Amino acid sequence: MLPFKLVYHDRYDLNLGAHVFPSQKYRLVKEALLARRHAEPLDLMAPERAADEDVLLVHTLEYVRKLKTGTLSPSELMRLEIPYSPETVEAFWLAAGGSILAGRKALEEGLAANLSGGFHHAFPDHGEGFCMIHDVAIAIRRLQADRAIRTAMVVDTDVHHGNGTAAIFRNDDSVFTFSIHQENNYPLPKPPSNIDLNLPDGIGDEDYLAILENHLVKAFAQFHPDLLFYVGGADPYREDQLGGLALTLEGLERRDGIVFEHARHRFVPVAITLAGGYARHVEDTVRVHVNTILAARDIALEIHGVEVFCDCARSLCPLVRSFRARLDSAGSGSS
Ligand SMILES: [Zn+2]
Repeated sequence: MLPFKLVYHDRYDLNLGAHVFPSQKYRLVKEALLARRHAEPLDLMAPERAADEDVLLVHTLEYVRKLKTGTLSPSELMRLEIPYSPETVEAFWLAAGGSILAGRKALEEGLAANLSGGFHHAFPDHGEGFCMIHDVAIAIRRLQADRAIRTAMVVDTDVHHGNGTAAIFRNDDSVFTFSIHQENNYPLPKPPSNIDLNLPDGIGDEDYLAILENHLVKAFAQFHPDLLFYVGGADPYREDQLGGLALTLEGLERRDGIVFEHARHRFVPVAITLAGGYARHVEDTVRVHVNTILAARDIALEIHGVEVFCDCARSLCPLVRSFRARLDSAGSGSS
């Protein structure tokens, strides 16, 4: 059992047919975590669809109406780069509901993961780059409206710049945006985040991780969020078809660990989303996402100053009980 919840729904699959985006990966990640006994069925929580009112906290009424009625124009569909279907709309609404739920669970328990989401290319009035609506922005706005959080940070390590995130929060001091990405890649233009790290083609593990860590320190020196949303794309992987960086599987797991460690060190709860991943072999994309969950687990257990010696983190284990108690006290201290 994991010391945090995984948010998952069987209808997360975007039903894209033959497409470079392997949206069956959500199910495959869930199955891999269960099959390898990293997680148990009790770790899973099913989200509800985001309410339209939640989606409208970020997106325009006109755009939401087009999505609900299937009346996107051909040019809007071309920009979205995925086929339209009511099932796809439902999957995005579920993903947004999943990120809201993951945000809530992270606030309660310190960590949570939505096994979908990270649709960082969606803008208020249009979708693009496989992203119909911006689940993370919707979750932040919902949690702010609920007064569950005042501030948030989005740390985006997908190989592509988080253009939708940057645009949505551009003039909002309550949300700090951080994107580390390949400069010579989609999207163009790249609206400014609070921190943008434009990496050269082909950068490898050591250079990437040094830049990431250096700038995470700078980000947290400027801003202490109530909640961090992690957009942990699998596409900086060296075998990715839509990425041009050269990170290894090990480097990507260290990447995740660095983000989680900096957040935990400052008692900032983390909600994980998966974002992109287009490796030649879908198993590699799944492996990267599974490793993100394992990196989060290891940081959750390391907070006790103990070695991660096995996968025995059961719900009644004192380790997990004290973990939750510690997170509760940390949460009340930071609010
Ligand atoms: Zn990407």
